[in-house]
Amino acid sequence: MKTPPPDYPNNSEDDLEPLNVIIVPHSHNDPGWLKTVDEYYVDQTKHILNNMVNKLSEYPNMTFIWSETVFFSMWWNELDDDVKVHVRRLIRRGQLEIVLGGWVMPDEATTHYVSVIDQLIEGHQWLWENLGVKPENSWSIDPFGYSGTMPYIWKKAGMENMVIQRVHQAIKGSLASKQALEFQWRQMWDSKGSNDILCHVMPYMLYNIKFTCGPNRFICLMFDFRKIENEVSESRSYTINANNIHQQAKYLYEQYRRKSYLYKYNTILVPLGDDFRFDREIEWDQQYKNYEMLMDYMNDQRKWKINVKFGTLKDYFKLANEENRHHMERYPENGFPTLSGDFFPYSDKDSAYWTGYFSTRPFDKKFSRDLQANLQAADILNTLTYVNLKNWNLDNKGKFFQFSTLLQQARRALGLFLHHDAITGTAKDFVVVDYERQMAEAYNKTQLVIRTALQILASKGNLMSPLVFKPETFRPKYNKEPVKQILNLQKSSNCILLFNPLPKYRQEVVRVLTDTEFVQIRNEKYEYVPCQISPTWSDKTSVDLKVFEISFVVTLPPFGIVPYMLHKVQEIDLHNVFPSRISLFNTEEFEIPKKTKFYTNPPVLNPESQIELENDNMVVLFNSKTGTIESEYFTYRSQGSGAYIFYPSNSGEVKVLFNIPIIRKIVGPIYSKIEVEFDHYLKFSVTLYHVPSLQAQGIHIENTLDIRPLTDREFVMRFKTNIDNKDGSYFTDQNGFQLIRRKTNPNQRIEANYYPMTSAAMLEDDERRLTLLSAQSHGCAGIEKGWLEVMLDRQLIYDDNRGLGQGVRDIKIITSSFILLLEKRNTLKANRHSDYALPSLLSISTNDFLQQPIVKYYSTIDSTIFHTTVTSLAVPMPCDISLVTFRSLTTANFIHNGTSLVLHRRGYDCDFPKDGLQCSVNDQKLFIRNLLKVSPAHSVRETTLTHLYDKKKIQASVELKPMEISSFHINW
Ligand SMILES: [Zn+2]
Repeated sequence: MKTPPPDYPNNSEDDLEPLNVIIVPHSHNDPGWLKTVDEYYVDQTKHILNNMVNKLSEYPNMTFIWSETVFFSMWWNELDDDVKVHVRRLIRRGQLEIVLGGWVMPDEATTHYVSVIDQLIEGHQWLWENLGVKPENSWSIDPFGYSGTMPYIWKKAGMENMVIQRVHQAIKGSLASKQALEFQWRQMWDSKGSNDILCHVMPYMLYNIKFTCGPNRFICLMFDFRKIENEVSESRSYTINANNIHQQAKYLYEQYRRKSYLYKYNTILVPLGDDFRFDREIEWDQQYKNYEMLMDYMNDQRKWKINVKFGTLKDYFKLANEENRHHMERYPENGFPTLSGDFFPYSDKDSAYWTGYFSTRPFDKKFSRDLQANLQAADILNTLTYVNLKNWNLDNKGKFFQFSTLLQQARRALGLFLHHDAITGTAKDFVVVDYERQMAEAYNKTQLVIRTALQILASKGNLMSPLVFKPETFRPKYNKEPVKQILNLQKSSNCILLFNPLPKYRQEVVRVLTDTEFVQIRNEKYEYVPCQISPTWSDKTSVDLKVFEISFVVTLPPFGIVPYMLHKVQEIDLHNVFPSRISLFNTEEFEIPKKTKFYTNPPVLNPESQIELENDNMVVLFNSKTGTIESEYFTYRSQGSGAYIFYPSNSGEVKVLFNIPIIRKIVGPIYSKIEVEFDHYLKFSVTLYHVPSLQAQGIHIENTLDIRPLTDREFVMRFKTNIDNKDGSYFTDQNGFQLIRRKTNPNQRIEANYYPMTSAAMLEDDERRLTLLSAQSHGCAGIEKGWLEVMLDRQLIYDDNRGLGQGVRDIKIITSSFILLLEKRNTLKANRHSDYALPSLLSISTNDFLQQPIVKYYSTIDSTIFHTTVTSLAVPMPCDISLVTFRSLTTANFIHNGTSLVLHRRGYDCDFPKDGLQCSVNDQKLFIRNLLKVSPAHSVRETTLTHLYDKKKIQASVELKPMEISSFHINW
């Protein structure tokens, strides 16, 4: 192993070890940022790829790598067959390598693992189908920090090595000092290291030429040979000729040598490219010809002991791994070091922290999660329809074709949005609109699949058309929040179909809006179902006479469809219908129409110090002047925040909610809630359920926020608890997949202590654990002991100088949903040092409910053909198994190509009570061949995550390992 000689380059040449340099030409193509994905494609990407075909053929020793499948597929659709043959040849020859190969290069902080995997399957399946390629190396150079979950996903998909770039500069320095910029990235829970993947961290600030040849950016700029007339460029290059070649080659050689001292072995990776590079034919010639002369010259200098050539990641990692193997033959314990954890938060320079984007444009972050849930439900229903139609001897190809076309478009729209300038909220306003329109179209397409499939399945194939079911929740416009339909029972009775997208039983409260309070609900056996009637409000203190909320408890089998019938009845015929009791506080006004059945208390202008809300499990106390529980809402005032960066002013928190809010309390037998409405910005509700027992264990919080009138502010919700997390540490989830310990550093500013929270954050002491589950991604922090805060929205006037060129002012109304769980340990916690935590079974189940809501469709045509429950799954899955996907694959012509089943067996902490759970953890054997009731699968194979490699045929049952994701390919 070499060490950097202190007096380099004056040391003796005899000491030098041979050095291999792999120059990797690349072009970073964002599917949307300053332009839309289509604009980039037409203006640049298309030319880059066309030039690539021509120039790689002209220069057979030149190479190129490509990562975004979304662009590659757009281009592919326009190619003549002979060009396609040519491209495949370039790949076979190793000149072109497809790296990562997801639909996009996803953001790693705000994305949920279900959709990250989905877009990876989409990309990998496309590549295999069209190019015959299985990506071996991951390339994720632009996301703003790196999650510990992604290396697991890349590895499970068959990739062996990965490259990352945007890591906090201080961390890079510390890794470099230990020659640990290349390491085996290990999952914190994987003691054997069976999921390790080799990770290469680029050492300098960025991935462009200025920062990749070596430590001196001014010298590196001499080796960017792109010169386009009238183009502004930082390049300081001179065309290489016989007169300058010695000097120029020496400069470059020295940079390579210096870079090599940061790494353990004698091979270095030198990326050659930048954003949208190689779009002009001439750049290919300029870079190639100059580098060819330089390489020849350097390789001829025997004393330099260097071998420089163009290559791909595959070429680089082949050499690096070979060196490691040789080295380990002599020193078995001294291979690549092993590291666990993640790389958040990210800072590039000047102590600026990229922690703002965790919460930028929350409307779109939430939208993508809704779309994810819809897509997942539609996927399951598509597969169930395919299998059932076949079983009923009905044609299943036509519907499969129709559904799969719609779902492919929807999937690709969601996949596109995971891009690291999309879900991050860091694109231009008009690009955001483009993403929103695509997501809205995708959302509608999933709804079309769901309503058609539900109708087919519920009617046993007897009513394929016309479509009579409509979604109970719809999106009126791409930039508006979803809206609940009001069921019109005055005119006719309604049938509502409830679909459970979870592979387990679920008992849950369903709430629908109707145009009458005289409602009777019956189940399929025509029994009356008890329901609670609650008010809606026409203004803060007036009950709306036209719209009522009906809530009732349902039990749904796994993947089951259950009908309920709603009728309007005469008052005298009401059975099992329970109007709620209404109380108002901080007001003297209370308007309630005389005819309604609600119980009321007179309004209280100056309530006692606290207002109580309770169920059998807990009492929640509200401050009567602010409406809050042990929580507060405030803003940070920006002094330099932008779409990416969080940089609040030193003055700390600023109050913006000034008036005493109107507080409404609604109490009923199914649930009770407090609604709090301020004059400006915010209304929120806190709900406690009385039944069923699982939902009854959480505090359900919903915020509706409108910060349009605020300028340069970041709006935060903070809980202050007496949880004694002594060292100030807490846990956040990483992409919904696992929990990691975070520790607040009191010597750092607030923005350096913010972390991403995709679906959960957790505080605990020896006895208790507080878990905040979230239906959408946010930034969060625990600034003081016992505190937990979540940033809800941001309005920022100024650009933060990271290339976007604008602030964030396209604010929309945003509703965010949370569930708080407070759990008591069975025994005192012994181990406090672990870097990670496991959720309780209660928290896993509650989170599954939150991420995959019950799907509700209704029809005004209430026919008996819909009146039977459809049960699909033969046996419910255990509590600790979460469904990642149950989606059918297609060929390019939308012919069924098997079903993808991806399951995640969660690790859980068994030191918490299991009250209210309807699932079991005892039997862990899964009989995947007999998964569905209707018919056994023809064959089941276990595969890698994206189904590119077979692992084994499954004959009987399988048992999944805790924490692990397993992937199966099923033929029916
Ligand atoms: Zn990018």
